Amino acid sequence: MTPVDLLRAPGIGPVLRWRHTRTVLQALCLAVAALLILDGLFGPQVAPRNLAGVLPWVHWRGFVVLALLVAGNLFCMACPFMLPRRIAKRFGPANRPWPAPLRSKWLAVGILLLFFWAYEAYALWASPWLTAWVAGTYFTLAFVIDGFFRGASFCRFVCPIGQFNFVNGMVSPTEVRVRDPEVCGRCETHDCIRGRYASPPKADWSGRPLRPDASGRLALAGAASGRAMGREGLLQGGCELALYQPRKTGNLDCTFCMECIHACPHDNVGIFTRSPLADLTTDPVRSGVGRLSRRPDLAALALLLTFGAFVNAFGMVEPVFVLQDQVSALLGLTSRPLLILLFMVTGIVLLPLVLVAATAAASRALAPGTDTLVGRTTRYAWGLVPLGFGMWTAHYLYHLLIGGLTIVPVVQEYLGELGLPAGSPAWGLGPMVPESWLLPVELFFLQGGLLVSLVALYRIARSEAPTKRTGVRAFLPWAILATLLSGAGIWLLMQPMEMRGTFFV
Ligand code: SF4
Ligand code: SF4
Repeated sequence: MTPVDLLRAPGIGPVLRWRHTRTVLQALCLAVAALLILDGLFGPQVAPRNLAGVLPWVHWRGFVVLALLVAGNLFCMACPFMLPRRIAKRFGPANRPWPAPLRSKWLAVGILLLFFWAYEAYALWASPWLTAWVAGTYFTLAFVIDGFFRGASFCRFVCPIGQFNFVNGMVSPTEVRVRDPEVCGRCETHDCIRGRYASPPKADWSGRPLRPDASGRLALAGAASGRAMGREGLLQGGCELALYQPRKTGNLDCTFCMECIHACPHDNVGIFTRSPLADLTTDPVRSGVGRLSRRPDLAALALLLTFGAFVNAFGMVEPVFVLQDQVSALLGLTSRPLLILLFMVTGIVLLPLVLVAATAAASRALAPGTDTLVGRTTRYAWGLVPLGFGMWTAHYLYHLLIGGLTIVPVVQEYLGELGLPAGSPAWGLGPMVPESWLLPVELFFLQGGLLVSLVALYRIARSEAPTKRTGVRAFLPWAILATLLSGAGIWLLMQPMEMRGTFFV
C-alpha cells in the first residue's frame, strides 16, 4: 500500500501543519489536568463522583490506546506536562547532560514496576486524592528534570507514560519520517536535529566553542559530533529526543512533537502511514536507539509492558481476590502493600523471566544460531508487543465502554459546586454500549493482538534464520508462548471484573 503523508492530506494536513496545533492541544490538556488535580484534592472522595477518579482511569487510558491503534502517539503530542516543562527550559539552566549510567531504559523499567505495584497496593483508581498527588508529582518531576538537564531527558529516560506510548506506538499505523532521503543527503544544516538558528551557533549547551568540521562548516560540527547546541539565537528547536531524521526508524522514543517538521528548511519531513508490522520485525541501526537486538533494556521494557498487561487485568478479577486472601492467611501477611509486592514480583518479574528464558532456550535448541539466550530474547521480545497491546486495549476499552458516560454527572456536579447551572447530576449514566457487547469487543482486540504477534514473530524468525525450516523451528516456541498468554487473557476477560471508576445507583 502506498504510504500517505498526512501532512499533505486534505482536511487533517493543514491542522497538523499549523505550528500552534500542539500548543493548543497541550493547553487544553493542561487545563483539564489542573481541574482534575483540584477536584482530586478538594472534591468528593468517592472515585466515580470525582474528575480524578473518572478521567484518568476510565477515559484517558481508553483514548490513549485508541489513539495509538488508529493514529499514533497523540498523547505525547498533546502532553500537558510540556508547557510547564517549556517554562523550566526557559528559566532553568537546562544544560546538564543526563547522567551516563542512566542513559538507558532501566530506570524507566524500575519506575513502571513501582507504578504497577503502587496502583494495586494503594488502589490509586479508588482514591481521587492520591491520583491528584500522582499527577502533581508528575508535573513537578517533569519541571525539575527538564529545567536542570538538557534535551528531553524526562520523556526519554523517566516518563512511564512515554515508555508505554513508545513501545505500543511500535504497532501504530503512522510514523514521522523524511519524504526524500536524497534531499537529506544534500542538506547542509541538519536543522531537524540541531534546531534552526538566526546565525550559525558558536557554542554548544555547555558553552564550549564549536570548531568547524572538515569542510569548514561551523554549524554542522556540533550536530555531526552529537554535541547539543546552545540556545542563543535559536529560532526553532530540533529533535530533543536525539532522533536524526535521515537515520530515524520507527516510533521508538518519538513523541510526535513535530519539532523536526517545523525545523527542516526543506519541508522534507512528513507523517506517513505504514504497516504496523514494519517497526517490530526489522532491526536496522536506529538513530538515538541503535539496534533493538543489542538493547536488553529495551527488550525488558517491551516484555514488562507485555506481561504487565495481563498482570494489571489479573488484579481486577474475582478469583484473584480469593487467591490473595488465601495467600495472606497462609503466610500471615496482613499488609496489603507487602502482599501486592509478593504478587507483583511473582507475576511480573519471576514468571516472565522463567517463561521467556525457557522459550528462548527451546527456540535455540530447535534452531541453533550464533546468538546467546539474551540475544534470542532481545530479538523476539518485540514480537510479543502486539499481544500485550491487544490486552491493554481490551482492558482499557472495557473501562471506557462500561463507564464512559459517568463523566456527564461528574461534570454536572462539579459545575453545580461552582454555582453554574448544570441540572441535577444524572448518576444513572455509565455504560456507552450494552453490556453484552463488552466480551466480544475485548476478545476481538486480544485475538487481533495475538494474530499480529504471530505474524511478527514469524517474520522475525524468517529474517534471522538461514532457511525456512529453521525459521519455523525458531518461531514455534514463541508462538506457543504467545498462544498461552492469549489463553490466559481469554480466561481473565471471562471473569467478573471490578467496575473501577463506575457508579450505578
Ligand atoms: S530532515 Fe530536513 S533538516 Fe533534517 S537532514 Fe533532512 S533535509 Fe536536512
Ligand atoms: S522532533 Fe523527534 S520526537 Fe519530535 S516528532 Fe520529530 S523525530 Fe519525533
